Amino acid sequence: MNKIADNLKKLQDNIAAACARCSRDLSEITTVVVTKSANIDMIKEVVRLGCTELGENRVQHLKITAEDLDLFISQNAADPSIPKYINWHMIGHLQRNKVRQLLKNCQFIHSVDTLRVAEEISRDSEKLSLTPKVLMQVNCSQEPQKYGVPVGAAIHLAEQIVTMPNLQLVGLMTMAPLTLNKDIVKESFERARELFEEIKGEKIAGPEFRHLSMGMSQDYEIAIEFGATILRIGSAIFSG
Ligand SMILES: *Cc1c(COP(=O)(O)O)cnc(C)c1O
Repeated sequence: MNKIADNLKKLQDNIAAACARCSRDLSEITTVVVTKSANIDMIKEVVRLGCTELGENRVQHLKITAEDLDLFISQNAADPSIPKYINWHMIGHLQRNKVRQLLKNCQFIHSVDTLRVAEEISRDSEKLSLTPKVLMQVNCSQEPQKYGVPVGAAIHLAEQIVTMPNLQLVGLMTMAPLTLNKDIVKESFERARELFEEIKGEKIAGPEFRHLSMGMSQDYEIAIEFGATILRIGSAIFSG
């Protein structure tokens, strides 16, 4: 378990160094700890270390883990070092029939990439009287097999999402291609940043639109350089 504490410390040091290199304030960056490769004891360990933002890409796993952690938090209510809440981030592809179950446990949905999914979230949120924060997932890598709305269709989808009263459009999410070629990674982060600035500049969304979710274990330092505000990190914390 010491390994997780060491990994987390190293990660935080690297994030601070990357911020310093591009003169960004560390407080602009939120790290979502991606739990898909971790077991429940490892997840409790990161919570014990103070992490409150957790991410999952499967609805069922998110639900089970969220319930386990609710219990863990209430059992440790007297321990000041254990956080009092967890914010869950859904980062994986979302099937419409799983939306309602997800909404009960999840505060941020990063993977809204079609009008149909947005409409489903909107309908179920209304029924449950919830106002989830959503990010629009954009395919900035131009790989045809990836999820995410194509860059050329993104503004139009954003305009549609902001008409849905129960959804708060708080930003964009993107994934760089899995490659060691940094120029290709930079190109896709640059494209995401341009689109992000365009949506902000044209005031398509309100002031709550301020998050750029990009950067994983392999490429988070580059993502910081290109303006990421949310990093999604799994293996750098849990493996090794
Ligand atoms: C798994 C996953 C991550 C984290 O990836 P690591 O390389 O383990 O840091 C981030 N975002 C999404 C969408 C993922 O599926």
